[in-house]
Amino acid sequence: MRHANAYIISLSLCAFFVVRVFACSPSPDSLQFAQQREHMVKTQIESRGVLDKRVLQAMRKVERHRFLPAEYLDYAYRDHPLPIGYGQTISQPYIVALMTEALNLKATDKVLEIGTGSGYQAAVLAEICPRVYSIEIVEELGRQSRALLDTLGYKNIRVKTGDGYQGWPEFAPFDAIIVTCSPTHIPPALEEQLAEEGRMVIPVDEEFYQELVLLVKVQGELKRTNIITVRFVPMLRKDGTTY
Ligand code: SAH
Repeated sequence: MRHANAYIISLSLCAFFVVRVFACSPSPDSLQFAQQREHMVKTQIESRGVLDKRVLQAMRKVERHRFLPAEYLDYAYRDHPLPIGYGQTISQPYIVALMTEALNLKATDKVLEIGTGSGYQAAVLAEICPRVYSIEIVEELGRQSRALLDTLGYKNIRVKTGDGYQGWPEFAPFDAIIVTCSPTHIPPALEEQLAEEGRMVIPVDEEFYQELVLLVKVQGELKRTNIITVRFVPMLRKDGTTY
């Protein structure tokens, strides 16, 4: 009887360790995604000249596949934007990295994002900065990305549903503002809520193709530098018309 008990105990211990080992080792899926992510960073981002170490590290860390609808998992690390529902898209990885680098973030910066979408860009920002505020106009997307970012443990991101054209005055001024949808002009509230020496990256001007610009506030005035021509979804009003 004693032997039988000892046998059962050792069997259970073995089973426990087997389960532990399997539970702790990465699944073949996540290994595959990690390899794809590394390849993405090397071939799409570093090779095109994004060199900021913190940006590269964040792009290596954040699991883009977690932010996508299941049917696009196989394309998660490809070199293009992807649909996230509600007629919206998650940006191309290179553009996420380029915009993040252009913000020239410091480890203490407070950042505002307009256009939470999937939450991916917010997660990349939150790997670098201690406070990220993000506004999404589509209620369902706001709710989904908030839930996902909570699940992933991002305690330093606050998401609200609303019209980002108005900014988030309660938490202004911001050291950096990133706009991931495109208005035809710089929203005055965002200009106002940008701190002195603050940086804003925003796609503006034309309706179909826009110029991604960097605006730096110097003695209350915005200094503009064009970065690259891009194509973003338009910035929307609550009634669905565009700004
Ligand atoms: N940064 C996102 C990309 C989202 S695409 C990501 O990493 O996935 C642009 C997003 O801007 C869309 O989700 C769209 O619904 C949102 N948007 C459009 N107009 C807006 C506005 N006025 N205020 C806030 N969000 C807006």
